[in-house]
Amino acid sequence: MRKLVGLPAKPPKAEGLDIQLKCNYCINECILSKDDMSYCGLRNISKKETGELPFPSRSKGYIHGYIDANPTNCCNAWFCPAGTSRGYPDFSDYNEPEFGTYSYAAFLYGCSFSCLFCQNWSHKNFSKRNLLEADTLANQIVKNKKITCLCYFGGTPEAQLPFTISLAELILKKIEKQDPKRIMRICWEWNGSGRQDLVEKCMRIAIKTGGNIKFDLKSFDEKLNLALCGISNTRTLENFKFLAKNYFGTRGDDMPELSGCTLMVPGYVNHEEVELIANFISEINPEIPYSLLVFHGDYQMRDLPITPRDQALKSLKVAQKYLNNVNLGNKFLLEFT
Ligand code: SF4
Ligand code: SF4
Ligand code: SF4
Repeated sequence: MRKLVGLPAKPPKAEGLDIQLKCNYCINECILSKDDMSYCGLRNISKKETGELPFPSRSKGYIHGYIDANPTNCCNAWFCPAGTSRGYPDFSDYNEPEFGTYSYAAFLYGCSFSCLFCQNWSHKNFSKRNLLEADTLANQIVKNKKITCLCYFGGTPEAQLPFTISLAELILKKIEKQDPKRIMRICWEWNGSGRQDLVEKCMRIAIKTGGNIKFDLKSFDEKLNLALCGISNTRTLENFKFLAKNYFGTRGDDMPELSGCTLMVPGYVNHEEVELIANFISEINPEIPYSLLVFHGDYQMRDLPITPRDQALKSLKVAQKYLNNVNLGNKFLLEFT
């Protein structure tokens, strides 16, 4: 399936004299020879030599951005300042949902996983990607005074973490200079497989700006993750634990710093799997928000049905046994089951 779109089946591991480039932004730790394409599809030596690919990619990124009216369908909008009255007045000018403002949706190309049910598989449409300068993008975002937050998603931001950090820093620097009272929350939505020091930098920016981080916890069982997403979930669980233990609750303002989220893939991610994930989160802190998403068929799993209503409710009940803040997302889909 990956070969059909020019991607390697496994992360490349060139050896000896063949080694031309190493990347360690995510769990895959690709080692490329001159003919290899990286697992995420963003790095390849021959293109680097022609100057097409940024590596390391701090100043340029493969990104497609657009604005979304707040409150958005952002996965954490059920508890963030854009969708609620939380965070006022330090992280929001509104003591209610931020109607009339926008969230900047920063869609990043490339992914360190390869999920069969991917609902954002256009991140693999590499022919359509644009390489944009962080500075140009920062100017555009800062210019629109109605933008109150930025959400990095994709694909997954892990494959371009240094770029997302440098763009965030540039935006904050420009705001500090032009309009120091302006609020600009910065959030990341990811599969959690990034390098730990980079992931921690993102967490600090999110906390400072009133933003948050959403982890896709696709499964607890490693074999299930390998079957559905092609790559192990060990780094995801480690990073979640590390950030949750060190940063959850540190802002002290009833504004959760991070959350977990699981797609209920029928027949694969049922209530048994949800129970394992909920238990894992509760052992760190039962107050961490957790969202269960109703599945609909997409990409290579179009033959699966929408999560059956009974299954969704069973999973919700199980998660609520362990956690105090559980949300059911994509509820409208249950109408069709
Ligand atoms: S980007 Fe962050 S602050 Fe904005 S809607 Fe999404 S979760 Fe909320
Ligand atoms: S991690 Fe997300 S974007 Fe990446 S393949 Fe999986 S579902 Fe798609
Ligand atoms: S970010 Fe891409 S190139 Fe780097 S290790 Fe991960 S998959 Fe490989």
